[in-house]
Amino acid sequence: MAEKNTNIQCVRCLSETAYLAASAPDGSGAWDLYCCSYCNYGWRTTEGSEITDVTKRDPRFSVDKNEVESVFCLNPIPKLLNKE
Ligand SMILES: [Zn+2]
Repeated sequence: MAEKNTNIQCVRCLSETAYLAASAPDGSGAWDLYCCSYCNYGWRTTEGSEITDVTKRDPRFSVDKNEVESVFCLNPIPKLLNKE
C-alpha cells in the first residue's frame, strides 16, 4: 500500500491536499494514483500531460478552490412531508 503523502498539489483545484493513493502493486512504479482530499479529483501518472501537468491543463477543467464547496453542493434532500 502506498504511503499517504498530503503535500502534493492537486492538478484541478491547486490545493496542497492531494496524496498518493495507490501505486502499481508489483512495485514496478508503472503507475501511481493521486487523489485530492479537497475536491475529490483523481489522476494517474500514466495520463497525458494535459491531465497531470498544471501548466498544460485546460483551465476550463480547473476548479477554484474557494468555490469547491458550492460547485459540489449536491441536491439537498427535501424535508419529509407531513402525513396529516
Ligand atoms: Zn483538488
